[in-house]
Amino acid sequence: KGKVSLVGLTKKYGESLAVDDLNLTIEAGQYCCLLGPSGCGKSTTLRMIAGHEAVSSGQVLLNNKDVTHASPRQRGTAMMFQNYALFPHMTCLENVAYGLKVAGINKDERTIASKEMLELVGMIEHQHKLPAHLSGGQQQRIALARALICKPDVILLDEPLSALDPFLRIQMRKELKRIQRQLGLTFIHVTHSQEEAFALADVAVVMKDGIIEQSGTPKSIFEKP
Ligand code: ADP
Ligand code: ADP
Repeated sequence: KGKVSLVGLTKKYGESLAVDDLNLTIEAGQYCCLLGPSGCGKSTTLRMIAGHEAVSSGQVLLNNKDVTHASPRQRGTAMMFQNYALFPHMTCLENVAYGLKVAGINKDERTIASKEMLELVGMIEHQHKLPAHLSGGQQQRIALARALICKPDVILLDEPLSALDPFLRIQMRKELKRIQRQLGLTFIHVTHSQEEAFALADVAVVMKDGIIEQSGTPKSIFEKP
């Protein structure tokens, strides 16, 4: 579970094509990095997969099912945001449990599941702290736990490491990969960093002006003879 297919995916803003007839399949359990210069359509593509942006034409399939017009919640995707987007007045545990609360899960079950997730991202000892008392990297771990808690098949990440200092960035990179592998989920990760894609991706997809310029293993793309 976690196969993503984009079929003729297109987004127009007025007359300009932000994403132009994109065709791409990402197999279940793959770590995919979406690369390319600023403005090439990476975020727009990610938001259309998440259901946060309406498509102009084309389809998004998840596990071969057409979800083009499904709400974000119905899709089995979860987005981890760049700015963490944690609730400042809630503890880490409450932040992680929130999605389950909305889904109507009772308090005991929420707590058990959330603690398990905090354990997974290495944040259990900080469960009662408020986000303001955490470092950037720790906030990011909480944001990831929050994305994971509703058991999505696909995690969507928009420049998740760009706000971190170089040391933390490399540490969090390893964490993302470990968690992706451990849970066997599909990750689609937008980045402008080749180095990041090289370290993380099973498949790298390079976009330019709304189209796919190249795709394949990072080795095949970046290690040109
Ligand atoms: P990237 O993530 O690769 O930097 P984006 O997907 O954010 O690129 O943007 C692709 C193109 O679409 C850019 O030219 C951008 O200005 C335009 N764009 C993105 N969002 C909007 C919007 N809400 N309204 C109009 N144009 C937009
Ligand atoms: P990113 O590249 O990470 O998407 P941007 O700064 O390009 O960041 O976009 C931030 C927000 O502004 C997004 O919600 C995007 O849809 C919107 N946006 C981007 N370009 C335009 C544009 N030309 N006109 C209107 N909204 C835009």
